[in-house]
Amino acid sequence: MSSPTVPAEELEKLREMLAKPRRIAIVSHYNPDGDAIGSSVGLMHILRAAGHSAKVVLPNTPADFLDWLPGRSEALCFDRSPDASLSTIRTSDMVLCLDFNQLDRIGGLEDAVRGAKVKVLIDHHQQPGDFAAVIFSDITASSTCQMVYDIALGLGLDEHIGLEAATCLYTGMVTDSGSFRFRSTTPHTMRVAADLMERGVAIDAIHSSIADTNSADRLRLLGFTLSERMTVLPDLRTTVIGLNKDDLKRFNFRTGDTEGFVNYGLSIKGMRLAAFFMERPDVIKISLRSKGDLPVDRFLKEHFEGGGHANAAGGQSKESLEVAVQRFMSLLPAFLAAHPE
Ligand code: 5GP
Ligand code: MN
Repeated sequence: MSSPTVPAEELEKLREMLAKPRRIAIVSHYNPDGDAIGSSVGLMHILRAAGHSAKVVLPNTPADFLDWLPGRSEALCFDRSPDASLSTIRTSDMVLCLDFNQLDRIGGLEDAVRGAKVKVLIDHHQQPGDFAAVIFSDITASSTCQMVYDIALGLGLDEHIGLEAATCLYTGMVTDSGSFRFRSTTPHTMRVAADLMERGVAIDAIHSSIADTNSADRLRLLGFTLSERMTVLPDLRTTVIGLNKDDLKRFNFRTGDTEGFVNYGLSIKGMRLAAFFMERPDVIKISLRSKGDLPVDRFLKEHFEGGGHANAAGGQSKESLEVAVQRFMSLLPAFLAAHPE
């Protein structure tokens, strides 16, 4: 299966780098999601099968709903193993940067990765930085996992995509494409998924491992959020959710518990924008989701130190929750007016 999206020159550079066994560190972004972990651990399996030594290093411990991914437990997390994380990066021949494209997205790993002699970027977010010697950046790709698959095939590593790698890559494809329903999902995405299925991936077990993992606390927090903390603005076709630290404490919040909450706002008929604000110990975390031509990544980059994709982006604010939400509301009419449907 050929893919038109992998640039031949970059592929050639990477092929040369991997011509003999290498020590490879694979790094992904802060608060790693399914695509970040799936692509990193999936590529780790492929590179190991191809004779390299590969390790995954993450800036912080991921939410536990992906702990079942084969090889996930081997990943070093900087918050728990800072020394091993940094020395793995510093002693590697090359660092592969997956599912992020700016070095400020990797927390405490930033300096070590910046100092690495050889960096390779594989990512699908907007506006990539130019810190890497080899750059695979495809903002049309539905996931980094899909890119890893295409690059692996381009490198002739087809036979090294075993069941474990396939399971990791398929999982990231599912999570980043909203189960193959976002606009980024193409016929090629489905062909890659089909090929991974032919390698034995158990799609029912994966969906169930991803979806059926709620705690009672999380489900109650969701119910509370939707009934008590969601404001619907029909005129602006926008929903806004704000959770403060007492709300989170009341439902014994654990990292990952609010994952996906923002999408409920967008599921209300007629909405084109959903906003989610959450009070964390040091910062207000913001998530935006939109439909159609409403580039929330640019909005967050301009106003809330954020970025991401045109229809799904994140950002932050050092203001109080109330002030951050107020500022958002005051910027909203102009943003919407600038992108009429
Ligand atoms: P989420 O809202 O689920 O945290 O993130 C949505 C998308 O935006 C993801 O692709 C994520 O990587 C990206 N993103 C989230 N927060 C930030 C941020 O603070 N800065 C940038 N550049 N991207 C972010
Ligand atoms: Mn991704």
